[in-house]
Amino acid sequence: MAPSPAQSSVTIVLPIFNEEEVLPELLARLTAVFDAHPAVAWDALLVDDGSRDRSAELVRAQAARDPRFALLELSRNFGFQAALAAGLAHAGGAAVVTMDADLQDPPECIPELVAQWRGGAEVVRAVRRSRQETGSRRLGMDVFHRLFNRISDFPIEANTGTFGLLDRQAVDAMNRLPERHRFFPGMRSWVGFATAEIHYDRQERAAGQPQQTLRRLARYAFDGVFGFSYLPLRLLTYTGLVVGTAGFALGLYYVVKRLINIETAPTGFTTLAALVLFLGGVQLIGIGVLGEYLARVYDEVKERPLYLIKRGPSR
Ligand code: UDP
Ligand code: MG
Repeated sequence: MAPSPAQSSVTIVLPIFNEEEVLPELLARLTAVFDAHPAVAWDALLVDDGSRDRSAELVRAQAARDPRFALLELSRNFGFQAALAAGLAHAGGAAVVTMDADLQDPPECIPELVAQWRGGAEVVRAVRRSRQETGSRRLGMDVFHRLFNRISDFPIEANTGTFGLLDRQAVDAMNRLPERHRFFPGMRSWVGFATAEIHYDRQERAAGQPQQTLRRLARYAFDGVFGFSYLPLRLLTYTGLVVGTAGFALGLYYVVKRLINIETAPTGFTTLAALVLFLGGVQLIGIGVLGEYLARVYDEVKERPLYLIKRGPSR
């Protein structure tokens, strides 16, 4: 069933952080897409995630020229996931497109997303046919996706990121997920709904440097794992069982040996040292894993807002 004209308003949500170099091209290309498809009531909500450059100013100027653009300003840099959540919470469209602002996700693919939505899909994921990242970033992403799908209860398609479309129902569902440590692809998989895909070539960043540091990406990966899997905890239990059983068997072996032949040579210091260090290591890893979950529980219990709004959404 095709949505009626009144329903076919689409909001594009774009978190931006220090993107003054990309913004002119982004705004131009978005405008071109909007103009080429006048049947859809478009609007773009740019969420300024505490940029320290002229990003907010550029968007504000654009909003003054073209009422289809709006700016939502956060009080400081809260990070990509929080900015995205702010955008989703303030997006008014019957469908919402989520994408990076650095033009790695090409705006020209948006009509395809919308076509899938009009064809009945409630969630549309954009799947990367190819990727431009190289080196450690790329390796990290590949390893993470493989690992995540092995262990998560809610697998995410390899090669999907934030780029995609959510219809109103799915947006409302996402907005109801209160978690502080947000992992967008996992959450999108969690909410369900009729899902479709489009394929696209991920582009090179149009200008400037990646704003997500490697450290942030690693933290994001941790949020994915700890937010969607209990496997680390379960692994600990299994490790404990195996090591405990082995220890007990070894103890038994020494006792029996002692009872059978009276002369027992003093056992090696090396064995002892290795055992102590090994067990100490396993225990520390265990505490670390517990800590990861505990810290997340603590963050949830504090119930701090995910982000604070300084201004907007202004038109
Ligand atoms: N971004 C943000 N807040 C941040 C870091 C990044 O809103 O603290 C935005 C950034 O402007 C871009 C998107 O998130 O639109 C993706 O960031 P980036 O391209 O730096 O990361 P990557 O491509 O490595 O995922
Ligand atoms: Mg990027």
